[in-house]
Amino acid sequence: NTIIKVGISGYGNLGKGVHQAIAQNPDMELVAIFTRRDPQQLETPPGIHFEHISAAGQYIGRIDVMILCGGSATDLPEQTPQLAEMFNTVDSFDTHAKIPEFFQSVHQAALAGGRLSVISTGWDPGLFSMNRLLMEAVLPEGQEYTFWGPGVSQGHSDAIRRVPGVKAGVQYTVPVQTVIDGIRAGDTPKLETRQKHRRECFVVAQEDADREQIREAIVNMPNYFADYDTTVTFITQEQLDAEHSGMPHGGFVIRSGASGNGNKQIAEFGLKLESNPEFTASVLVAYARAAFRLSQEGQQGAKTVFDIPLGYLSPKPAEELRRELL
Ligand code: NDP
Repeated sequence: NTIIKVGISGYGNLGKGVHQAIAQNPDMELVAIFTRRDPQQLETPPGIHFEHISAAGQYIGRIDVMILCGGSATDLPEQTPQLAEMFNTVDSFDTHAKIPEFFQSVHQAALAGGRLSVISTGWDPGLFSMNRLLMEAVLPEGQEYTFWGPGVSQGHSDAIRRVPGVKAGVQYTVPVQTVIDGIRAGDTPKLETRQKHRRECFVVAQEDADREQIREAIVNMPNYFADYDTTVTFITQEQLDAEHSGMPHGGFVIRSGASGNGNKQIAEFGLKLESNPEFTASVLVAYARAAFRLSQEGQQGAKTVFDIPLGYLSPKPAEELRRELL
């Protein structure tokens, strides 16, 4: 049986999750973790080989798939094209509006190196995208809804922490339950941003800070909060540490449509995640297997979840999958 040799680039939440996920997949072996920081200065688990990212080139031919765990805002647009020329890659680039542009730059790099890159996998984009496509193809007449949460949004939490007077904070995206109940019961409303999700902020203020000023600054922040019903609750650092240190997330994709005779058909896919990065990492690892197989077949260039046969995600042979899961 082939063992797939994996590298990890970037040692943040996702990188740590990928390391743990590889341990759950006996057909995979971790070769090394690459970081832009000085590996000597990092707190690292025993028995794992760490390298500075500048040494990646020395691993060409020794790593079958590099799993890229950098951030979407600035890391991946630079790192994926660079590494895609040297290795087959998988990443979780999640800036939806920029995916077409990102796809093109990774595609060129992967073709130049004769490699294969799976971009923008995870849960959204990723498993949610698959379900949106699947149900739209099956129910062409209908309405699609994606709800996120309840869960921590890293981007919105960062935005809170940049407000003057804020010491620490966390933001939860919460779907509006009454709207979801209606859709599940067959309603097909046209929804404004504000009607789909609420934003709940838990903030630790600096001692001398004006809390009302902080609240105003948050709820009126354009792009992040102004278009939503936002609540701000002030808490202590101790409460934040005790009650808000996890990274839960989740959500669902619902398609409400009708078939030929006008019969209502409602399809739903949902996730309830105690750890967003650990789950996303598990998805990346399954797609690393698919990337390896596709590249073994001679396929090259950038791919998305739409291009990959489902069976390639599983370590089981096709015959076994037909028997057990079909
Ligand atoms: P992190 O901020 O934890 O890590 C991003 C990078 O920052 C790491 O690769 C690491 O690079 C560097 N880094 C991490 N910790 C530190 C530190 N203490 N000091 C300095 N640098 C550090 O992000 P996540 O791992 O949580 O998420 C990565 C991306 O995954 C997100 O930007 C998001 O877009 C995407 N994502 C996608 C999902 C999907 O469903 N598609 C779901 C969840 C996330 P290095 O080791 O090289 O320094």
